[in-house]
Amino acid sequence: MDFQISSEHRMIRDLAQQFARREIQPLAAKCDREAKFPLEVHAKLREVGLAHLTVPTAHGGAGLGVLEVVLVTEQLAWACAGITGSLGINAIVADVMHSAGTEAQKRDVFGRLTAGQWGAYAVTEPSAGSDVAAIRTRADRRGDSYLLNGAKVWISNAPLAQFFIVFAKTDPSAGHRGISAFLVEHDRPGMQLGKVLGKLGQRAAPASEVFFNGVEVPVAHRIGEEGDGFMIAMKVFDRSRPMVAALALGLAQRALDEAVAYAKERQTMGKPIIEHQAIGHKLADMAVRIEASRLLVYQAAARIDAGLDNTMEAAYAKLFAADTAMHCATEAIQVFGGMGYSTEYPVEKLFRDAKVLQIYEGTSEIQKSIIARELARR
Ligand SMILES: Cc1cc2nc3c(=O)[nH]c(=O)nc-3n(C[C@H](O)[C@H](O)[C@H](O)COP(=O)(O)OP(=O)(O)OC[C@H]3O[C@@H](n4cnc5c(N)ncnc54)[C@H](O)[C@@H]3O)c2cc1C
Repeated sequence: MDFQISSEHRMIRDLAQQFARREIQPLAAKCDREAKFPLEVHAKLREVGLAHLTVPTAHGGAGLGVLEVVLVTEQLAWACAGITGSLGINAIVADVMHSAGTEAQKRDVFGRLTAGQWGAYAVTEPSAGSDVAAIRTRADRRGDSYLLNGAKVWISNAPLAQFFIVFAKTDPSAGHRGISAFLVEHDRPGMQLGKVLGKLGQRAAPASEVFFNGVEVPVAHRIGEEGDGFMIAMKVFDRSRPMVAALALGLAQRALDEAVAYAKERQTMGKPIIEHQAIGHKLADMAVRIEASRLLVYQAAARIDAGLDNTMEAAYAKLFAADTAMHCATEAIQVFGGMGYSTEYPVEKLFRDAKVLQIYEGTSEIQKSIIARELARR
């Protein structure tokens, strides 16, 4: 068993680290304050070859795996989880193609992504988040088309996206087996963007409501067969959860790095606070949880790249890394004392950015339910 990443992996990780510190870190606070995604970061990421990592080389991408996505995401998220989360949605859209796209759909979607378009991934509705089977958006077959009617909420990147992967019911009586997935362009008649939602954290990543009012979608834009939607969403989770866990890992590492630097600098009772055992133990506890998260995240990614089942491992990684990010951000504020509460220092943003990691891409409660279900099944 080898716990080291390869020299190629180290190269891509180091490139991402340099990019994050040069292109993302200086913008992070302003983008958060103004709730604005910096589009130039997307353009520069494409220039250095760190966007579209899993898009096959035949389609203009890097042809890499989820482990590379995870290594890059960890570094970018160190600089800003909001900006990185937004960039990650395009990887999730690519994951849909890897899970169920036909050759023609792959050509279309990968081509859009490598040309610089943005995709969005629309499952959640006002009355259905964790309970995916309860979605109400309808897709009714009319000859060679479907008519989509319904409402989605919390759709990340919707204000930026030229196209959406939309999950809708083709058979409302069939529960989770009645869901199908569709590719829908943003400018189809009947598509309507709702308001951009105000957020506690990850404010650089725009999310909004999306309404479908009789949107006509050709049958060729259905991804998979009718009724495959739920299965596609679950397959996508196996690839996307390691990535979201890597977002958490990068954020947690930043919290530790900031806390260590401050604790070496700040003096009380005649010595740096890192020499007070109470503070030193906090830092040690953060470091252990981060290293354990890293092993879980890399394992979940490496398993899916090796073609092995990783549903359980992806849930371990998402659960533990998200909780670690929240723990480390909270403790970093404590290490900073009053200054941790100030917007002049970066740790209050880490705290706000961390919370949603326990909510989206499956809440922490849902990850525990998946783990329990797998324990029962095995
Ligand atoms: C910033 C942000 C960005 C998002 N981006 C996207 C996106 O791009 N696309 C998209 O489709 N969605 C997106 N979401 C939606 C997100 O995936 C959902 O918010 C999440 O799945 C939880 O669903 P919910 O909000 O409806 O909460 P609910 O499902 O109503 O859950 C409420 C609470 O009950 C708990 N709970 C629910 N069911 C169970 C159960 N069976 N067992 C135990 N506990 C349970 C939950 O864990 C939670 O604590 C985003 C959300 C946010 C906040």
